[in-house]
Amino acid sequence: MSASIPFFNFSLKKVLIQQPDTLKQARIKIVYGILLLSLLKLLIAIPLVINNIPTNHLFRIVFFFLIYLALIKYLLYKPLSINIISHLILLTGIAGIWSNLFIFGQQLNLLVLQFVFMVTFVSYYLINTRYAFLYSILAISPVMFKLAITSREKWHLDAISQELPSPGFEVVVLMNFITIVLIHYLFYRAFRDNVNEKEILNKQLLATIAETKALADSRSVFLSTMSHELRTPLNAVIGMTNLIKDTATEEQTENLDILEFSAVSLLTVVNDILDYNKSENDKIELEAIPVNLPGLLHKVCSGLQLKAAEKGFDLLLEVDDKLKEQWLIADPTRLTQIIYNLVGNAIKFTEQGTVSVQALVVQSDEGHVMINFSVTDTGIGIPYDRQEAIFEPFTQASADTTRYYGGTGLGLAIVKRLLKLFNSTIDLKSKQGEGSVFSFAIQFDLYKGDINPNSIHTDMNSSFDNLNILIAEDNPVNALLLVKLLTKWNAKTVVTNNGKEAIDKYLNNTFDVILMDLHMPVMDGYQATLFIRSLSNPIKACIPIIALTASVSHNIHGKIKDAGMHDYLSKPFQPVSLYQKLNLINIAKAGKALAE
Ligand code: ADP
Repeated sequence: MSASIPFFNFSLKKVLIQQPDTLKQARIKIVYGILLLSLLKLLIAIPLVINNIPTNHLFRIVFFFLIYLALIKYLLYKPLSINIISHLILLTGIAGIWSNLFIFGQQLNLLVLQFVFMVTFVSYYLINTRYAFLYSILAISPVMFKLAITSREKWHLDAISQELPSPGFEVVVLMNFITIVLIHYLFYRAFRDNVNEKEILNKQLLATIAETKALADSRSVFLSTMSHELRTPLNAVIGMTNLIKDTATEEQTENLDILEFSAVSLLTVVNDILDYNKSENDKIELEAIPVNLPGLLHKVCSGLQLKAAEKGFDLLLEVDDKLKEQWLIADPTRLTQIIYNLVGNAIKFTEQGTVSVQALVVQSDEGHVMINFSVTDTGIGIPYDRQEAIFEPFTQASADTTRYYGGTGLGLAIVKRLLKLFNSTIDLKSKQGEGSVFSFAIQFDLYKGDINPNSIHTDMNSSFDNLNILIAEDNPVNALLLVKLLTKWNAKTVVTNNGKEAIDKYLNNTFDVILMDLHMPVMDGYQATLFIRSLSNPIKACIPIIALTASVSHNIHGKIKDAGMHDYLSKPFQPVSLYQKLNLINIAKAGKALAE
């Protein structure tokens, strides 16, 4: 600031223009005002006292005059030095008080008291409180000392200064009062302006925060809607591919495998974006159902075994023997997602050697078990300085990773957030060129109930010729896919296009299960289910209803339960998942028929 002010500047305006802060502007004005008024006071006093005061006293006055003149020039040239100037002004004030009382033998009078007040509050307005406190004591203590040693009769507030005759004394007293008022006026005006300015800034800040939040919300809604729209047709692509494969020739099957692989890859990307979006908004809730860990790990690894074999190395799985008979309470989908991401990466970034997955019990008691999972590879490794960054979203170890290996950089960010839900953190040990070990430990509750063999049944050999299934689905491709799938399992089907049509059909016919899409025109799946659950005929009211949803909204599980649906399937779903759910209903129906 001072660099652009010329040495011969005499304008306060020029100095103030360069200082945007109102409080700093006020300080400059206060210092300038004090100096200017002090010069004026001395100019008035000098001619009045020149003939009737001792020379050393006159020297003091001239000395102060010259100091104030120099300080005013210094302030206009180097306003950034306002701190030094303020200290010097206060020191001259204190020197004035002390010399008046102890060198020039003056009594306590109005002028001395005015100086004490000025030094005290100017020091608080202009410099920091520590110095202000010191200066206040230096200004007040001589007065208190004088008060203590002077008899009361000699102490008169109206006692005029011995050497400044009237009207000089009165004029200086008046100018001191003007100085006091001016200082307060300038300081409080600046203070008020500053507070107003901060209030305006605060309002702007709040508006910006609200705008940013609205933007983030709309981004999140957009991502959810977009992925919902993508998942619905993907459901049809994957489902149809599965169906056609049953009757395809060998050559067609090869092409269909590629089609299915691409569709599943696309689905993974869509799901990754969606999951990240959900975890960012704390919208993922963990399921707690019985899980057979060896079975789960086996399934994940056998899905990826092919990829490892294609690259010419082994994918090894080691599961603690203690876990073979013991089921855990866990969220199998999220656990699968974590392992799948880590093993998928390990295979992707390894060219030779091995990739191994380990799940070992590190601690256990009556009701809990702590399991340490690790995924080890002999791949390219991760440079030390990138080992933290790769867990950030959309971040890869190096700029050319996408070019060589593909990927979005979301997988590890999702893994990290999912592990947080399991109250765990991921640990990475890696050396560039030698390989990596990703590990984490999770504590699970042990499952104490009976294990239902149907929940692990996966070969789709049963026939559902006993089942009459009502489908409520507005998307014709998805409806067709369901019909084809269910017909393959010999089930009878009736298709309706919305909740209202489904109710009409249901009231006049008998069905064993309803597959209910959630978002449909006219009447959605929630409303239709609520209506069915409120029917007066108890047998009709309690028909199993399975929700079919591509929705990814928060707490979908809770919403479906609240509406009275038994279960749900997330689209796109694997035929085996639908098969398992229908199989349970089929078994229950057969059991009921036997009992009757
Ligand atoms: P993506 O695999 O889609 O790029 P991730 O978030 O899963 O995204 O991984 C981020 C980055 O971390 C990868 O791009 C890669 O650079 C690095 N990385 C992850 N796992 C491994 C591994 N096993 N070996 C070497 N690098 C890895």
